[in-house]
Amino acid sequence: MSTIAENIAKVGVRIDAAAQAANREKSAVGLLAVSKTKPAEAIREAFRAGLRDFGENYLQEALEKQQQLNDLPLVWHFIGPIQSNKTRPIAEHFDWVHSVDRLKIAERLSAQRPAGLPALNICLQVNVSAEDSKSGCSPDEIYTLAHAVTQLPNLRLRGLMAIPEPTDDPVLQREAFAKLRRLQETLNLPLDTLSMGMSHDLEAAIAEGATWVRIGTALFGARDYSS
Ligand SMILES: *Cc1c(COP(=O)(O)O)cnc(C)c1O
Repeated sequence: MSTIAENIAKVGVRIDAAAQAANREKSAVGLLAVSKTKPAEAIREAFRAGLRDFGENYLQEALEKQQQLNDLPLVWHFIGPIQSNKTRPIAEHFDWVHSVDRLKIAERLSAQRPAGLPALNICLQVNVSAEDSKSGCSPDEIYTLAHAVTQLPNLRLRGLMAIPEPTDDPVLQREAFAKLRRLQETLNLPLDTLSMGMSHDLEAAIAEGATWVRIGTALFGARDYSS
């Protein structure tokens, strides 16, 4: 079994190789460690191996781990579906939110962001695979949503996020990520972030311009949802 530090090194090699193949600086691709379902101790271990940014999907679980880790200077990213009655703790306890897909959620996050904290970094989640069950706004809605979000005082719109339908075909992987990149370009806004790519498709995402890859399994091992 490999340790988290070994896994981080392996993922680092994959990111460097993909960046080089795409003629991009490796420093342009951030590694967001997705720690959902994993204990605080795993995050501590990843921190010791050099990681600072952690992504969580489940609010209650994230808040508990933040408590246990409040001695560390971590950057917290919320990446899961957002119910409107959960926006306040998200606005209070996170640095980034990658999964905003409607204006009502953005308005609440802005209104509930505590004074004294910097603007909350926002990515808008787009459903690039047109699956009914998935969260994310439709590509048709993104222009209006993005321009409305730029007007909210306590948010800083950084870019777009997607979770394409899983496929092992690298050509299809790249098509979905290219769609997100092109959509971002059509917005005509000064955005610097594309949050795309997970353990199985980070190479395709980096080839299409990912600036955050969100990696869980390849760092922390398979998740166990049974308990
Ligand atoms: C779980 C999750 C990930 C990480 O997926 P892996 O395949 O384990 O790397 C990335 N992004 C989001 C939004 C997730 O929910």
